[in-house]
Amino acid sequence: MDLFEYQGKQYFARFGIPTSLGGVASSVEEALRVAGEVGYPAVVKAQVKVGGRGKAGGVKIVSDADELREQADAILGMDIKGHVVELLWVEHASSIAEEYYASFTLDRAAKLHLCMVSSKGGVEIEQVAEEDPDSIARLHVDPVDGLRLEDAVDVVSRAGLDRGVASEAADFLLKLYRCYVEGDAELVEVNPLILTGDGHLHALDAKVTLDDSAAFRHPEWEALDAGRSTDHREAMARERNLNYVGLSGATGIIANGAGLAMSTVDLVSQVGGSAANFLDVGGGADADVMVAALEVINSDEQVRSILVNIFGGIVRCDEVARGILEAMRRVELRCPITIRLDGTNAVEARGILADHLSEKLMAEPTMLGAARRAVEVAGASA
Ligand code: GDP
Ligand code: MN
Repeated sequence: MDLFEYQGKQYFARFGIPTSLGGVASSVEEALRVAGEVGYPAVVKAQVKVGGRGKAGGVKIVSDADELREQADAILGMDIKGHVVELLWVEHASSIAEEYYASFTLDRAAKLHLCMVSSKGGVEIEQVAEEDPDSIARLHVDPVDGLRLEDAVDVVSRAGLDRGVASEAADFLLKLYRCYVEGDAELVEVNPLILTGDGHLHALDAKVTLDDSAAFRHPEWEALDAGRSTDHREAMARERNLNYVGLSGATGIIANGAGLAMSTVDLVSQVGGSAANFLDVGGGADADVMVAALEVINSDEQVRSILVNIFGGIVRCDEVARGILEAMRRVELRCPITIRLDGTNAVEARGILADHLSEKLMAEPTMLGAARRAVEVAGASA
C-alpha cells in the first residue's frame, strides 16, 4: 500500500524523523486555517500518489493568505497524471541550502536491504541514476545485522553530503532504517532530504510503501486505507476478507483460485456477457465463505445473474455444494445462480444439488455451458 505524502510524514514522525509542521486540507478555507497555524511562508502540496507533483504545478510556495487562496484553489481538482487532487497538505515553508536524497528498499536480487544516498536530490532519482550514476552512494544492509552506525557514516561520506551534517545524516539514516524495518515498509524515500538554511536535515517529501503482507500485525493501518476505494462493494469485500475486484457488468462471479476466476471473467465476455466482478474465494469454499461472497455480489444492484465456478482440487465439490445450499438459506438472493462444479467428488455434488434445482438454482456440467446459461439469464432479466 502506497501512502500519501502527509501519511508518510506522519509515519516518519513516529520514528523521530524531522518533518515540517503542517496539516491536511480539503478546501480553500481549511487550507487558510492550516496556513494560519503553521505560519507564512507556507507550501501548498497536492496529495496524490504519484511523483513529479512539483513539475506538474502541484507544489506552490505562498507568502500570504491571498496567494494561498489562489494556489489552493488552483491545485484542488487539478489532474496530475490522471490523479485528481482532492486533498492538500499545507506546511510551513523551509529555506533550502541543499537538496539530498535518501531511501531504503529491498534489493531482491541481492536478498538484502538497499540504502541509497545522494547529494543530488530534488529531481527524480531515475534521472540522477541515468545522468550521474556515481553521485548515488549505495549500501547493502543485511537484515540480520541491521544498519550499523559506521556503515551509515560511510555511505553519507561517499555520497558527498556536507561534512558539517555528517553525523546528523548518519543519525537520520538510522531513524529512517528503523521506520523501514519496524514500520514494515517496502520502500521509504526522502526526496528531497534538505539541508536547511540553518544547517539541519529535514524530510521535505515522503514516499512510503507499506508491505501489505505485514498488515495482519498493524490493525492501525486500516485507518490509512480509508477512502482508498469508494466502491462500497470493495469495502464490503475487504471487511469479509475476500479477494474481490469490482467490475461494471451484470454477471456476478464466484470462483476458486485467481486463475480460474480470471478465466471465468474472460469466458463470460467471450459468450457475450459482462462480469460484475472478479472474486476468488480461494481454497476454502465452505458455507461461511459462500455467504460472504454472495452477500457482496447480492449488494451489487447491477448484478442480474450469478455464476459459481468451482474446481475441486483440494476442496471437495460435495462440501462446496452443501456450502452453497446453506448460504442460499442464509442470504436471500435477488437473482438466479448457475453453478458449475467439477473435480473431486463432483458426482456427489451434483447429486446433492439435484433435489434443489429450480429457476433460481441451475447447474451445468461444463464451464462454457455454465457461462452461457448465466449470461443468458442476465440478458433475459434485463
Ligand atoms: P514532488 O515533485 O512530487 O517530488 O514533490 P516535493 O515534495 O519533492 O516538492 C518538489 C519541490 O518543491 C522540492 O524539490 C523543492 O524544491 C520544492 N519545495 C517543496 N517544499 C518546499 C519548501 O518548503 N521550501 C522551498 N524553498 N521549496 C520547497
Ligand atoms: Mn519529491
